[in-house]
Amino acid sequence: MADVHDMIIIGGGPAGYTAAVYAARANLSPLVAEGFAAGGQLMLTTDVENYPGFPQGIQGPELMQQMREQAERFGATLVAADVTRVDLSERPFRVWIDDDEHLARSVVISTGASARWLDLPSETRLRGFGVSTCATCDGFFFRDRPMVVVGGGDSAMEEALFLARMASKVTIVHRRDEFRASRIMAERALAHERIDVRWNAVVEEVLGADTVEAVRVRDTVTGEAEDIPAAAMFVAIGHDPNTTLFRGQIALDPAGYVETDGTRTSVEGVFACGDVQDTVYRQAITAAASGCMAAMDAERWLEAADDTTSDAPTGAVASGKDA
Ligand code: NAP
Repeated sequence: MADVHDMIIIGGGPAGYTAAVYAARANLSPLVAEGFAAGGQLMLTTDVENYPGFPQGIQGPELMQQMREQAERFGATLVAADVTRVDLSERPFRVWIDDDEHLARSVVISTGASARWLDLPSETRLRGFGVSTCATCDGFFFRDRPMVVVGGGDSAMEEALFLARMASKVTIVHRRDEFRASRIMAERALAHERIDVRWNAVVEEVLGADTVEAVRVRDTVTGEAEDIPAAAMFVAIGHDPNTTLFRGQIALDPAGYVETDGTRTSVEGVFACGDVQDTVYRQAITAAASGCMAAMDAERWLEAADDTTSDAPTGAVASGKDA
């Protein structure tokens, strides 16, 4: 039988790497299945200016690399491969990384969420150069210039209202003639003097050689095309939590997010952190914070269950040098 790990962390992003740092420093020798998309959504961003500790900003991929190195330095084992299957029905839990089966006393799920994209070639080409799914991250770079937000749900309203503080003008492009968003959010957006709505319109192309210059939309009623001048286009058409692996094994909410109480899931010994269980904040810093919480919760749970093989001193997570 394969060795039983104290902890397997599924997913390498700010949540997974932070959980790995804390778990490794508690002598739990975590095995981290980072996945082929190691680093998560931050690998798709350029400058990150709102992660505390980097006053000059840091590139998303570099921040992820530093978190990886920090986890490795304390003894986490990182595997750049995808988990293909899990069995959480009994302990030890079973986790397959590629075809290899691994056993674990505790599991931390940090598989994140993926923002939905429109899937246009021009959108892909200009990602990170004006095309974004995160107004909080990237809006500031385009201040005093016109911006487009695509979508008609609460996320689109929230992004538009946030951007309206800094943009010269925000145009919401929505494919129907009414919003899906809650009434209060929709009314707030509609009442804002710098927010316009282009109803019944779908984005056909993002125009610009190296950066976004305009967004070409087509009216679904008249069939006419229009170019809306814009320095940035924010796609806010929803997120999909990466929970296919866990369906039928732990409680998920109707949208597919892992249901958590703190970081505990419906299965004892399985914890979740980061965007896979967060429909509200979805920031690198909040993901990292919940990764820390998941590791500490798992360590305490293992200790209470007297279920570790490690010789970690009790309370090892909180040594004098820790933040
Ligand atoms: P959502 O409610 O699913 O809305 C997605 C929007 O994008 C819809 O208006 C949809 O159009 C549009 N859309 C989807 N696919 C599209 C495509 N391919 N092309 C063009 N438009 C497309 O997603 P969400 O806004 O991210 O919200 C998700 C959940 O989080 C909701 O329950 C929401 O209430 C919640 N949330 C709450 C807050 C808050 O309370 N502050 C903030 C953000 C999110 P149709 O309307 O035509 O389907």
